[in-house]
Amino acid sequence: MNLKDFDLFNPTEEHKMLRKTVCDFVREEVEPQALEHDRKEKFNLELLRKLGPLGLLGITVPEEYGGSGMDAVAAVIVHEELAASDPGFTLAYLAHAMLCANNISHNADPEQKKRWLPKLSSGEWIGAMAMSEPDFGTDALGMKTTAQKSGDHYVLNGRKMWITNGAIDDNKTPCDAVLVYAKTGTDKNAVSTFVIEKGMPGFSVGQKIMDKTGMRGSNTAELVFEGCKVPVKNLLGKEGDSTVHMMRNLEVERITLAAMSLGIGKRSVEEMNKYATDRVAFGKPLRKFGQIQRYIGDSYAEFMACRTYVYDVARKIDLNKAGNRLDSDAVKLVAAPMGKRVADRAMQVMGGYGYVGEYVVERLWRDAKLLEIGGGTIEAHQKNITTDLE
Ligand SMILES: Cc1cc2nc3c(=O)[nH]c(=O)nc-3n(C[C@H](O)[C@H](O)[C@H](O)COP(=O)(O)OP(=O)(O)OC[C@H]3O[C@@H](n4cnc5c(N)ncnc54)[C@H](O)[C@@H]3O)c2cc1C
Repeated sequence: MNLKDFDLFNPTEEHKMLRKTVCDFVREEVEPQALEHDRKEKFNLELLRKLGPLGLLGITVPEEYGGSGMDAVAAVIVHEELAASDPGFTLAYLAHAMLCANNISHNADPEQKKRWLPKLSSGEWIGAMAMSEPDFGTDALGMKTTAQKSGDHYVLNGRKMWITNGAIDDNKTPCDAVLVYAKTGTDKNAVSTFVIEKGMPGFSVGQKIMDKTGMRGSNTAELVFEGCKVPVKNLLGKEGDSTVHMMRNLEVERITLAAMSLGIGKRSVEEMNKYATDRVAFGKPLRKFGQIQRYIGDSYAEFMACRTYVYDVARKIDLNKAGNRLDSDAVKLVAAPMGKRVADRAMQVMGGYGYVGEYVVERLWRDAKLLEIGGGTIEAHQKNITTDLE
């Protein structure tokens, strides 16, 4: 299929090369394992580690800390191309590279960066970010996890829910580093950020969350903090000053989640287009039927419109600053339903074949729904946009 290659999507030679690197890796390594890991509901830890030597795990981390020092467009390229094959695996990548590594690289002091970023960039360590709780998702600032200072450490108590990469391997072993938000005062905004490392006393995996509709190639877990002792040197930034960190992180998360919807949209257009050529009914290829043309034509146009918006926002965003909430919410609000809708049309065009795993779109169709929930629900984006336009 001939997708128009606007300059916006590969603004520099470096971006073009990056896309090629990711596409080659996807073809050779990601695609062959995607269906099996979805069916077995198994996270492919070794595959994630392989992204380290390619410079993808620390895509936005400065080179002095082992990363590639690239921009938001680069991050969008990686998420788009990985998700065109395996959105579940891509979600695990996002939790590591954006929610953990990118977050540390923008909020930690130089000594902390030296301690964590080279390991996260190489894949020696796998990371996560824990904001949501069993009773607080959209209402994130209502969180009940607390951190109380006691001499040279803090004591954390609480539970975090739905944490991607929270557990790895057997789904009971915590990942190596989790960036955790906790309240350090009674004020709603008194949020602080801590990096909790595997093996810290009082840190464990709670219930493992199984039988997800989609994104089954990623692990999702509850994390438990019971009198968890965390050294003061694991506090990121100033105590009680993390709401801006959190907002900046959510903006990065929303743009890269929108890029994942682009991947789903692109692959779905490709699959339905190919099938409509190969499949003959009533003596002619499906693509000659007006109703099928409407599915393909509408899908291509909607995908390209979203793609243009996502890349334009990524091009203008300063990863170092918060303040991009309006458009990071808006790109996800428009891209997530696009991914879901286009995957649905692909399944319709492909008839019974579209409904089984081997033909890919069934998996994309299930994965697409999460992007209307995770990292902010559709309703949260609508609320934020309306607030920001006031
Ligand atoms: C597979 C998966 C992976 C995830 N990974 C992570 C992760 O790595 N880290 C992490 O911290 N979290 C993660 N999450 C959590 C995710 O971000 C939350 O599920 C999401 O923010 C929604 O929160 P909730 O599930 O508690 O729903 P709720 O906030 O309870 O919302 C339920 C419904 O009420 C609506 N609603 C709530 N408030 C309002 C309002 N003010 N106005 C209108 N409607 C409203 C919502 O839009 C939604 O429709 C993950 C979730 C899933 C399913």
